[in-house]
Amino acid sequence: MDWREAALCRYEDPDLFFPIGTLNSGATLIQTDEAKAVCRRCPVSERCLAWALTAGPVEGIWGGTTEGERRAMRRRMAREPRAAAEPAA
Ligand code: SF4
Repeated sequence: MDWREAALCRYEDPDLFFPIGTLNSGATLIQTDEAKAVCRRCPVSERCLAWALTAGPVEGIWGGTTEGERRAMRRRMAREPRAAAEPAA
């Protein structure tokens, strides 16, 4: 079974995972938090995050992270390859 078949976001409005607007605006932050809350309950969040990290820059919330957070994780992984297995601080 493809991990995407177990994705909780299949049952949500896809737009929830693609916040638009100013990064730190109230509405965008609320939408981002709501999407991340779904990801926290998702049984395939680790696989989703791993996919998003290797896929390169992708917009939206994947594996409970924003692209900005994943970019920081990729930089950290490039500096410290062993840090790839550790959660972001
Ligand atoms: S972690 Fe989030 S974005 Fe990824 S499959 Fe699960 S609900 Fe969807």
